[in-house]
Order: sequence, then structure tokens, then C-alpha cells
Amino acid sequence: MTRSSHRFAALSLTVSLLAACAMPPETDPPATTADARAIHERALVLDTHLDTPAFFDLPGWKITDRHSVATDTSEVDIPRMKEGGLDGGFFVIYTSSGPLTAEGYAVAKAHMIRRSDAILRVVRENPDAMQLALTADDAEKIAASGKRIVYVSVENSLGVGDDAAGMRSFMAELYKRGVRMASPVHVKQNQLADSANEPGRFGGFSPLGKQWLAEVNRLGMIPDASHASDAVFDQMLELSTTPIILSHSGPKAVFDHPRNIDDARIRRLAEKGGVIMINSIYLAPRTNNAEREKLSAELDKTPVGPRREEIARKIHAINQVSPVEKADFEMYMASMLHVLKLVGPDHVGLGADWDGGGGVAGMEDVAALPKITERLLAEGYSEADIRKILGGNVIRLLRAAEAAKGR
Ligand SMILES: [Zn+2]
Repeated sequence: MTRSSHRFAALSLTVSLLAACAMPPETDPPATTADARAIHERALVLDTHLDTPAFFDLPGWKITDRHSVATDTSEVDIPRMKEGGLDGGFFVIYTSSGPLTAEGYAVAKAHMIRRSDAILRVVRENPDAMQLALTADDAEKIAASGKRIVYVSVENSLGVGDDAAGMRSFMAELYKRGVRMASPVHVKQNQLADSANEPGRFGGFSPLGKQWLAEVNRLGMIPDASHASDAVFDQMLELSTTPIILSHSGPKAVFDHPRNIDDARIRRLAEKGGVIMINSIYLAPRTNNAEREKLSAELDKTPVGPRREEIARKIHAINQVSPVEKADFEMYMASMLHVLKLVGPDHVGLGADWDGGGGVAGMEDVAALPKITERLLAEGYSEADIRKILGGNVIRLLRAAEAAKGR
């Protein structure tokens, strides 16, 4: 019996027992997978970390085409979002770490504008398939029209520079470009904050970083502490005027990694109304593969076509025998269920780092998302709980950010 059919059987049994109590004996129990699917379809499903814009400037790549992990490495497109019942999410303006110099800031800023332009262009070019969302209320309206919901977030605010006035004016521009969530830092400390991956030089935020956070609150964006050091997380929780988010993070108690967060901090996040969106990476030790890295670098520069497919197939073959992380759907769910038991369904959501290194065996792309709903149902979570986890919690945080705007 495969792992997947085993889970189906367990779910059938649970629902059969429930059905046996509630219905006449001659009534067949409802088809459990259909129940899970219906609940999933009724819910607003949002993931808070879609790195898909990394593909947007790739010649020939279209979000409306159905791609596959095996032939393209990508994990998100409109057809697979529909298959997986993913209504939308936060499309990320990601900037890699760089030099903390005037030139470094200028390069990062130009990159952020390019990526923002790419997101806005893809939305503009596909008006029947997707729509930019600017408020919490927009999500339900866009979902009702059958289009995918495009919120925009910033991962790593390096490009805001090191001058307070310049920072504020660029952040105002980002807000106008639709940004509603922002994180200060990535894998290397910058002018704003220390990173989770390094010892750190500020012991948290820099003085400018604290001004950055005040500006995030004033503009009505959700502050995001993923990738930041524990000290930054503590200060963000203390100083933010609205609940904060971890847009793609996991519990340290399940896998001890600097990018994951300890239970005491998750409890404090929840006490302040915040949410941790469960990541599908940092679930297991990581292994490097020189050949995969070489191929990945080539893939990033290769337009859609036979050569790109050939490279992607080679990467996929390497991943089958030597995955970056030996992690599967059960491990992803163990992470989510740990946090659910710790702080409950008001403080958990989806942030699997799709197209940014996410995806695990058994949940390789967003088409697999209904499995999460099926599993939560099997674990005894109600439809109301599941709806909060799938999208309700992030909407609540957006609403809180909007309410605090301008203060
Ligand atoms: Zn990330």
C-alpha cells in the first residue's frame, strides 16, 4: 500500500465511523476525498511565498502554460494553481544579498524595480487569469471572478538604501506598486537587520531598520520576520503596531536549523496575534551537488525550449537520487501539525517557498495542495479551522495592517 492510499484509508475509516453515528446504516459513507476537495474549493487558499516571478523575465515562459517540475523545475502556474485550488498568494520581489555600499544599494533597488515591473506586466498581460490585490477585501472579490489573486511582497529590503529619506520615498513607491508585505533581510545581514544565518552585528535591527519597520506599519504592510535573526524577530514583535508574519518558516522543534524558530517564540508570536506560514524547506539536512548547481545556473539563463527541458530533466534525475533535502509530505505535515498543536489554527498558514526551493516528495508543486486539507480533516480539524489555515489568517493580518495604516 502506498503512503498516499494508506492515508486515504485512514481518512475513510474516520469519516465512516462519524457517518455511522449520524446516518442510517444503509447510507454509504460519503467519499472522503471528495469532501476534502469540496472544503478546499470552498476555502480561500493563499500561499505567502511564491517565488514564481523569478521566471517572469525568462524568454518564452508563460504563467498560463502548464509546466512541470520534471521538465521545467517550476512549481506554480495558472493551470496548476487551478488544479491545486490555490486562489493566489504573495508573489515575491526577491533580492539576493549584496554589498552594503552606495553601488550595492543602487543595484538592489534597480533589481527590485525590474522584478516589480515584471509582476505588474504579467498581471496586465493576463487580465482574464489574474488580478492585482491591494486590500484584504480584494481577495474574495477576485476569487469570486475566477481569477488568481496576486498580492505582492518584498523579500530582503536591501534596495531601500541607507538614507532615511530615500528609504521612505522608495517604500512609498513600492506600496504604490502593490507591495503589502515586506521583510528586512535575507541570508546575509544588511543595513537594516541581522540575518538568521549569521552571528549578526546589530543584535537585532539597526537604528535605520527600526525606522524601516515603523514605515512598514505606517504604510499598512505586514512585517515579515522570515530570514531575520531571533533578535530581529523579538524586536519586530515588540515594536510592530500590528501582528507580524513569518511568511515561510518552520518550527525548530521539528528540525533544528537557524532558519526555523523555537516553540517559545512561536507562542509569543501567537500571543500577539501573528501567524507562521509553514515552509517546505529546512525540514531535513541539506546536501549540495556540484553538478546540480552547475545545471541550475545554466537553467536560469536558458529560454523555454528543448535545451531548457533537457537541463530540467537532468536536474530532476539528480533530485530523485540525491534531493537537496530528503523530505516528504509527511515531514511537511509534521511541521504544520506541531505548530497547530502548539498554538492552534489561528496562527498557522501556508508559505511553502514555491519556486524558491520549496516542494517535497509527495507535494512537488501547488497541484498537490488539496492533500493538506485532506490531512487536516483526517487530523480532526473543522472546516472553519481549515479555512483559517488555508487563507483566513493572512487576510486577518492584512486587515490589521490596513487598520493601523497612517498611524
Ligand atoms: Zn526565502
